Amino acid sequence: MTFSYCQHRHSKPDLRSPALEIKGLDVAYANDEKIALAAINLNIPAGTSIALVGPNGAGKSTLFKAISGLLPIRSGSIKVFGHSLGACHQRVVYLPQRSEIDWQFPMSVLELVTTGRYVYLGWFARPSQKDIQTARHSLNEMGVLDLANRQISKLSGGQQQRVLIARALTQNADLLLLDEPLNAVDAATRQTVADVLGKIKAQGKTVIVATHYYDQEEGRYDGAIFLKDGHQVK
Ligand code: ADP
Ligand code: MG
Repeated sequence: MTFSYCQHRHSKPDLRSPALEIKGLDVAYANDEKIALAAINLNIPAGTSIALVGPNGAGKSTLFKAISGLLPIRSGSIKVFGHSLGACHQRVVYLPQRSEIDWQFPMSVLELVTTGRYVYLGWFARPSQKDIQTARHSLNEMGVLDLANRQISKLSGGQQQRVLIARALTQNADLLLLDEPLNAVDAATRQTVADVLGKIKAQGKTVIVATHYYDQEEGRYDGAIFLKDGHQVK
């Protein structure tokens, strides 16, 4: 299948190309003199799971947003599976921090999770039954299918996190950028998230997880990126 806005066929990840290759990346926010990320170099092989570690303000979310094409880059380059940014943006999914979502927006859990399919739909196209089935499958995988018809304003913190991960799974991307999925969630949700990360990896996908809990989770990852004040450390 070829997508109108994507010149490349949607295919399995090319395992010869790294999932992510970043060279000399600088990012600054508009109207801000300060560089939010400076001289970042990364080479993440496909199929690995990587922790992104650093204190608040280190630049973790900024890095994820730059990789997903949400921020202009000041200099340097980012390649995803060997392609320039935007060439096949459906292969990357960014799961924002829970706090960045407007949870008062009037929509149901199923509607929110189905938006994970929008990258595959043309302008004005409505999700198909198959898209909705995919969304329901992801909700089931996160153990929250029973919440499908609930308004998103009526979710607990742990439920919000499960629903956001279900939305990310629904896109079926090859590179997942998860922004603090374990922050302030209950033990059961942490376990579900850990199980799902294991499954994603078993499918050959690449995952980068921004986390504050690296000390306790180290064994779960193949490697780690350490950031401080917008710079790579270690
Ligand atoms: P982290 O996710 O590691 O907590 P962020 O990427 O959110 O860090 O922030 C990195 C730096 O960029 C911080 O100095 C922060 O103040 C700045 N920053 C983040 N978002 C914005 C924004 N929208 N406008 C201006 N500066 C920002
Ligand atoms: Mg952040």
